[in-house]
Amino acid sequence: MKPPQFDYHAPGSIEEAVTLLGSYGGDAKVLAGGQSLIPVLNFRLARPGVLIDINRIGALSFIREADGGVAIGATTRQRMIEGSDIVGRRAPLLADATRLIGHLPIRTRGTIGGSLSHADPAAEDPAVVTALDATMVALSKRGERRVPASGFFRSLLTTALEPDELLVRIEFPPTPAGTGTAFVEISRRHGDFALAGVAAQVTLAGDRASEVRLAACGAGPGPIRLAAAEKIVRDGGASAASIEAAAAAAAAGVEPTSDVHASAAYRRDLVRAMTRRALERAVARAAGGTR
Ligand SMILES: Cc1cc2nc3c(=O)[nH]c(=O)nc-3n(C[C@H](O)[C@H](O)[C@H](O)COP(=O)(O)OP(=O)(O)OC[C@H]3O[C@@H](n4cnc5c(N)ncnc54)[C@H](O)[C@@H]3O)c2cc1C
Repeated sequence: MKPPQFDYHAPGSIEEAVTLLGSYGGDAKVLAGGQSLIPVLNFRLARPGVLIDINRIGALSFIREADGGVAIGATTRQRMIEGSDIVGRRAPLLADATRLIGHLPIRTRGTIGGSLSHADPAAEDPAVVTALDATMVALSKRGERRVPASGFFRSLLTTALEPDELLVRIEFPPTPAGTGTAFVEISRRHGDFALAGVAAQVTLAGDRASEVRLAACGAGPGPIRLAAAEKIVRDGGASAASIEAAAAAAAAGVEPTSDVHASAAYRRDLVRAMTRRALERAVARAAGGTR
């Protein structure tokens, strides 16, 4: 199928894009990598009158160290993120997750900002920003607005972005020393969206797990922070028993639904298994200093 008719703008600056968004509001859609938006248009699931193509705005594509963490521009391609030395050092969980997104051609076009704005519940990037408490920075004619990940994902394919807001960058906090990360997921075929997946980041201080961050994808209408499971490992340490208890708590804390790909019960069980695997891998990496 072909998309419905639309007017097309390709602004050269952030200011121009924000002005266009402000004047068209809800009738406009931002076009980033097009890996989600173009299929949506072709299936006529959305009929925006205007597309605002932000691919020519160089200032939206960057990866830089910031305040001990990393700031990433919204149109930075997933392929750039996956191979970035800065991301590997400053936000290793994001690097782990990005390698699992679709296929190479998808990651070569797809952007981090597009993935977060699209908010597919099975997508990896939303789970990562949720686990890490990253901040989404949106810009409109009213100015800049900082939205924590905990308030960004509202429901299925819906975020806190207003129709006239452009997501301009994502800020990730520092990763403490002694940290290990892992993103583990199951999909039916290589490159498919995950049936369910879990992002884990564990910081060890001696025998203790001083910081534990966990989030699931594919297990509800959006990414889910697995707070009860985090607490079990923080309080009880990273023993096998503690990890098993955390995995059970994670499974109890998600809200999967059944669809043609998998039943809710199977997805819940996947979350249990993925949490265990992700924690084991993150703890081993934290202990061994390996990636
Ligand atoms: C075959 C296939 C397999 C895939 N597999 C996976 C997978 O396993 N995991 C996964 O996570 N994703 C997967 N994807 C999706 C892919 O990662 C997309 O790139 C991503 O979801 C959207 O990014 P994009 O840059 O292409 O955004 P677009 O498609 O251009 O836009 C997506 C939405 O976000 C909005 N938007 C984009 N940028 C901004 C911005 N800066 N500010 C405000 N709104 C914005 C658009 O208006 C649109 O509504 C797959 C896609 C395909 C086609």
